[in-house]
Amino acid sequence: MPYGVNVSVPLDPSIYATRLSAVQRAAAAAGIDALLVTPGPDLRYLTGYEAVPLERLTCLILPSTGDPHMVVPGLEVLAAQASPIGTLGLELHAWGETDDPVSIVASVTSGARTVGLDDHMWAEKVLRLRAAMPTVAQVTAGQVIHPLRMRKDAFEIAALRRAGLAIDEVHAGVAELLRPGRTERAVGRDIAERIIAVGHVSVDFVIVASGPNGASPHHEVSDRVLEVGDAVVVDIGGTMPDGYCSDSTRTYSLGDPGTEYRDWFDVLERAQATSCAAIKPGVTCEAVDEAGRAVLRDAGLGDLFIHRTGHGIGLETHEEPYIVVGNALALESGMAFSVEPGFYSTGRFGARIEDIVICTDDGVDSLNRRPHGLAVIEVG
Ligand code: ZN
Ligand code: ZN
Ligand code: ZN
Repeated sequence: MPYGVNVSVPLDPSIYATRLSAVQRAAAAAGIDALLVTPGPDLRYLTGYEAVPLERLTCLILPSTGDPHMVVPGLEVLAAQASPIGTLGLELHAWGETDDPVSIVASVTSGARTVGLDDHMWAEKVLRLRAAMPTVAQVTAGQVIHPLRMRKDAFEIAALRRAGLAIDEVHAGVAELLRPGRTERAVGRDIAERIIAVGHVSVDFVIVASGPNGASPHHEVSDRVLEVGDAVVVDIGGTMPDGYCSDSTRTYSLGDPGTEYRDWFDVLERAQATSCAAIKPGVTCEAVDEAGRAVLRDAGLGDLFIHRTGHGIGLETHEEPYIVVGNALALESGMAFSVEPGFYSTGRFGARIEDIVICTDDGVDSLNRRPHGLAVIEVG
């Protein structure tokens, strides 16, 4: 199979300076004196530094006004400087094996009354920071960083588009892997190989849920052997070299899955299209959920759609905004998220159709372009 080459465009480092100052303004508006960001997607978003979370403390200290600082273990300094951090002019505080990095953070942030901690900071570090700064209130940094991450810029949309095309290329070859007599696990292994072959640097998940296993939305793979008549839910995703993620589901069947299944699948296809058609700036996340859910409900399938319609995606596979009942957040141009309704009938079968979409000024742009219909595979 010919795989396309995914050329990833290097990001202009000035974007990080722009993001850092936008987050500083948001922190100031929220009454947070400094943000403490440890390795993970928020650090990568703000500085381009793809550091691994380790026991040794690496921490961006971003005051609401003034210059950012970076606390880095001595042995990581070269790696940090080789990243866009090297061009950002952050003040680096390298610490040696016998130094106490937490006291460096405390002295750099002295005078702060409230600090925002990375949402994914290890508890051990949170508690050491609390002990070193006993009078300083700790809140989450995500409340000011995530609203910015939720609104993708042109670079990020292009990155998500490349990720979407890559995973589409994998789905284009899935039908040839699904054969009666093969196990879900064997098919999953082949799919994982292809996720890398089309340009991802990691495989984030491979769901091959055949027959009754399809009724479990997060089933991964098992040793179940595929049989004629099975519907097979295939939900796959990975991370591209620039850090952006793919996630797409298509449902296949080995021969005819039966009239009832085909009828229900037609309803599901309409539900997915109806949610997509509802997307435009100003519409709430919950209205997008309700649009598709109503189609399933009207056909008597409402109780079988047992999860939210979607989740945001970017540097993480699951991030804000969540397309769910109760989320009154209004969509804005540049938001990226999945639209993935399904139906799940315990002991029998399941189905899901999932695209990643971008809310645009005039509606919606789908980043996954594979046909939505049930892909019926000819058998024997
Ligand atoms: Zn997060
Ligand atoms: Zn998915
Ligand atoms: Zn998803």
